[in-house]
Amino acid sequence: MLTKYFSIVGYSDSGKTFVIEKIIKHLVKKGYKVGVCKYIHHSGFGIDIPDKDTTKFYENGAKIISYVSPDANGIINIEKEGTSSTLRNIENKVDYLILEGFRNLTGVPRMAIIKEESDLKSLLDEFTIGITSHLIDLSKHNLFIKDENIPSFVEKRALPPMTSLNCQKCGYDSCKAFYKALLMEKEDRSKCVLQIRNIKLFVNKKLLLINPFVEDVFRNVISGIVETLQRPDEKINSIDINIKIE
Ligand code: SF4
Repeated sequence: MLTKYFSIVGYSDSGKTFVIEKIIKHLVKKGYKVGVCKYIHHSGFGIDIPDKDTTKFYENGAKIISYVSPDANGIINIEKEGTSSTLRNIENKVDYLILEGFRNLTGVPRMAIIKEESDLKSLLDEFTIGITSHLIDLSKHNLFIKDENIPSFVEKRALPPMTSLNCQKCGYDSCKAFYKALLMEKEDRSKCVLQIRNIKLFVNKKLLLINPFVEDVFRNVISGIVETLQRPDEKINSIDINIKIE
């Protein structure tokens, strides 16, 4: 399945981590693989404190820092590319990707954790489908979700990110219009031509979205070549190709 995204936004000390912990616990219990990507607002190497080993390795130019401990091991892949490249690296390795603190990122379902009234103006956008607060009473707000319902809400309402092909084959003027209908649960994802893909193109093991026109070209060219190499009585059901460049 395509990785489903869900974004949690809120100012510091609003309770984002508390909410995300509960979401991870719930999804993992259900058997899903979960990834988290955190937006760090300060510059430098954000996940370690200054003067610790990992920061020193980063400052001296290490591109990958990995660690092994008695309980776990992991790899920190350091890139200076944009957000989408980092997210694509995580995609397809997890079923759900929870984004923390990406206030300016649009095109994914979003929940805002509200600290004070004014946050309702600054944190909500057209992709916001839920809000909650541990500090003020929002129970009358039409987007309010009770704390205990948030994990299952995220499981149900997370979506792959909005696309931007704008081919209108779903009957909507734009991908955004279709996506907004999806967010409101008024549409079915299968109506988007990009969901009905018969070709999966992986480059460096990352799945790339290909539009229907390119998909047709691929299918016709590759199956045409393979047909000339096949025994005429053998029916082709699928073709797998793995190309190594270099
Ligand atoms: S079919 Fe998919 S790609 Fe085309 S406009 Fe609709 S949502 Fe966008």
